[in-house]
Amino acid sequence: MSHPVIGIFGGTFNPVHVGHVRAAIEVAEALGLAAVEFVPAARPPHKGGEPLLDFALRLRLCRLALGDLPGFSVNAMEADRPGPSYTRDTLETLGRQRPDEEFCFILGMGDLLSLPTWKDGLNLGRLAHLAVHAREGLGLPHFRAFVAERAAAMGAVPTSEPAVWGLPGGRRLTYVPVSRLDVSSSDIRERWRRGGRIHGLVSEAVRHELDNHAAALRAGWGRPAPA
Ligand code: ATP
Repeated sequence: MSHPVIGIFGGTFNPVHVGHVRAAIEVAEALGLAAVEFVPAARPPHKGGEPLLDFALRLRLCRLALGDLPGFSVNAMEADRPGPSYTRDTLETLGRQRPDEEFCFILGMGDLLSLPTWKDGLNLGRLAHLAVHAREGLGLPHFRAFVAERAAAMGAVPTSEPAVWGLPGGRRLTYVPVSRLDVSSSDIRERWRRGGRIHGLVSEAVRHELDNHAAALRAGWGRPAPA
């Protein structure tokens, strides 16, 4: 496989935070990815009840969070698709539009465990490599147990490496331990609503942009922050 492998980091990014950026960097370094694209979901199917910033602002925040980090960029492709933003559609479109590249979808362990509820979730490994990073304290044994139970549905076969399963088409499903930054977008939104500081949880460029969009935040995240 001589094609460059591009990491695809999907998420709601409401807002993007330092945990996202660190996890993406560590997965890219561990797997030798040629580049990583953050792909914000325009209409995330799993977060229906969540108060959401509009897509253009989440996109801009992702660009600011990545700054000039070499090899890292933001891909707005989900903006153009009507209806819910399904990962299987994104990976299928990428494969069709960019046949000279390979893609590796990067997901957290919590997302792996919920794959059976995603549209065609257990088939994602038929469209791209998969890299699962551990964040929630769930380690390699959980990863192996989950995959072993669904190996037939996923077309996954064990390899001599405990952290790697083979997938159809010579692709790989790899478990990648990353340093765990206990940061989440929901916690950031909650702190913001309480009027708390979010310094250190997001980059300074992201924090400035959030400050500049207080009205959009009030509209997107619900309850106003105390004055
Ligand atoms: P929320 O708190 O609103 O559920 P979130 O912080 O989990 O959001 P998402 O945009 O839903 O952020 O996450 C996108 C991807 O980033 C997912 O694969 C998720 O597992 C991963 N991720 C989120 N937070 C972290 C973190 N602190 N460290 C590593 N990965 C993370």
